[in-house]
Amino acid sequence: MAPQPGEQIFRGIAASAGVVQGRVLVLDGGQVEAPERRLIPEKKVSSEIDRLEAALVRTREQIRDLQSKVRQRLGADDAEIFEAHALVLEDQVLIDQVIRCIREKRVAAEFAFHDVASGYTRALADLHDEYLRERAADLRDLTGRVLRNLSGKDATHDLRHLPEPRIVLAHDLTPSATAQLDRENVLGFATDVGGKTSHTAILAGSMGIPAVVGLKHTVHELSSGDFVLLDGFNGLVIRNPSDQTLFEYGQLERRQVDLHARMAENRDTPAITLDGHRVVLSANVEQISDTAAVIDCGAEGVGLFRTEFLFMERDTLPTEEEQYLAYHRVASALKPNGVIFRTLDIGGDKLSGTWQGAPESNPFLGWRAIRLCLQETGIFCTQLRALLRASAHGNVRVMYPMISSVDEFDEANRLLEQCKGELRAKSTPFDEALEVGAMIEIPSAVLVADALAKRARFFSLGTNDLIQYTLAVDRLNERIAHLYNPTHPALLRLIQMTVEAGKRHGIWTGVCGEMAGDPALVPLLLGLGVDELSVAPPMVPMIKHLVRRLKLSEAREMAQSALQSESSVDILARSRALVQRTAPGLFEIRPIPL
Ligand code: PEP
Ligand code: MG
Repeated sequence: MAPQPGEQIFRGIAASAGVVQGRVLVLDGGQVEAPERRLIPEKKVSSEIDRLEAALVRTREQIRDLQSKVRQRLGADDAEIFEAHALVLEDQVLIDQVIRCIREKRVAAEFAFHDVASGYTRALADLHDEYLRERAADLRDLTGRVLRNLSGKDATHDLRHLPEPRIVLAHDLTPSATAQLDRENVLGFATDVGGKTSHTAILAGSMGIPAVVGLKHTVHELSSGDFVLLDGFNGLVIRNPSDQTLFEYGQLERRQVDLHARMAENRDTPAITLDGHRVVLSANVEQISDTAAVIDCGAEGVGLFRTEFLFMERDTLPTEEEQYLAYHRVASALKPNGVIFRTLDIGGDKLSGTWQGAPESNPFLGWRAIRLCLQETGIFCTQLRALLRASAHGNVRVMYPMISSVDEFDEANRLLEQCKGELRAKSTPFDEALEVGAMIEIPSAVLVADALAKRARFFSLGTNDLIQYTLAVDRLNERIAHLYNPTHPALLRLIQMTVEAGKRHGIWTGVCGEMAGDPALVPLLLGLGVDELSVAPPMVPMIKHLVRRLKLSEAREMAQSALQSESSVDILARSRALVQRTAPGLFEIRPIPL
């Protein structure tokens, strides 16, 4: 698609499928709306500067006021925080720069202040010194205050309730903020940072909100009110799309609607290959409200329920009763189909209000998931009791995340047995035959998979993490996203080793990472012997369509030859070619959000 005059294409990473068009809402790092670039006539320049001065005076007063209140209530040390804000407001270099910007570019004071201040914020945020990085947050906070005083309105946005439909553009969005997005009015979103398997991207996929991540510095090039088309298939944001571009996307959409109608016909049929091999096709879920989507999409239950989202965006931990009711609701809604609840995997990029531990330099290698649970046993046992109680009302399984050794698995099971004892003592019912599995997402777990398979009833490959830990590639970092490579020969071997260890001990292996929902990789996974695929609900119809056209014998043959290959590009090409042969046109089919 050749760019048209006026049309401007920004390239990022496709994070959640779908195409949307509309006006954008640009948020800066502190969820403050970046102002529109409003031009002012020459004769209004001096009154614009007066307006700026007045807003700065008003902001200074507010800060002094706030400072004295905090001093009274919390003491001088805490009040000191606002000293930094006050100093920025007195920084003549910054203010002169804003005034110059108004004069020379003839832009409104809001735009000029935001423009200059966000330059400083970016510079501070990139520094290694933690103290200076925190000043970036101060500066954002202050910018919000000045903008509110300039516009006379509250410029912060509650993304849970947007007044009108918008495509949200932000430097970053946390997974917990994403989970709460206003599904009606947030048409799509785009962020400067992030990778394909960041939890923000995964959530967008499950929610069916088209998204592009890893746009690098695009957010600062767009202004609120710009008209864009967001293409979540190819990772594009197109400002001022031309008529031709809109026409081409319109055609694509019509083809999709057609093909999706055909795929939906498979909703109630099982995922069986042409040569009669049954694949369990389940869905990944983050929120209780997604249970309906699991039923609608034709999945056979839930292969991964990420329980941590129940713990986010709240000031207190969920009680046993609250958790029990939530798990019970999901398990009974999906009965007789099963639900695999993964125990709390907080940490990494998923932090919550209650769970902000001390900042870590390497959160993905830090206090996360089972490590945290085995130290905070009170929290872990509360969850285990709630899950056990829910198991009396449905087909429930449990799995532990981030298992790196047999000791961790044994210790988690010891606590589980302890919780069972407590429930038995109170005659509280639970499923005595509850199956417990291990997530395989750390290379060390693969290397001890035989020992784990003696203890676990199933394995679920968390390929999102397995890739990041095997290849030493941060799954969030857009700068090294090209190295985040699911078809690296090392990955194939680890998957094969896991599956074979499982088979030696008579247990099944599933994949619940994003690899399972990528049609190009499905033949590879099935050929390597994977028994279950768990994918975002909107992807289920397409994956089922594909499985029903594949022959397992061909997938096995292809996987065996891929295992001999030394090149990830070649491995991907082999798997893709098999898809193209068996389900022609599939790569033109784009999933439509449910
Ligand atoms: C994974 O790592 O593949 C996985 C499914 O878990 P999460 O994405 O929540 O880390
Ligand atoms: Mg994981």
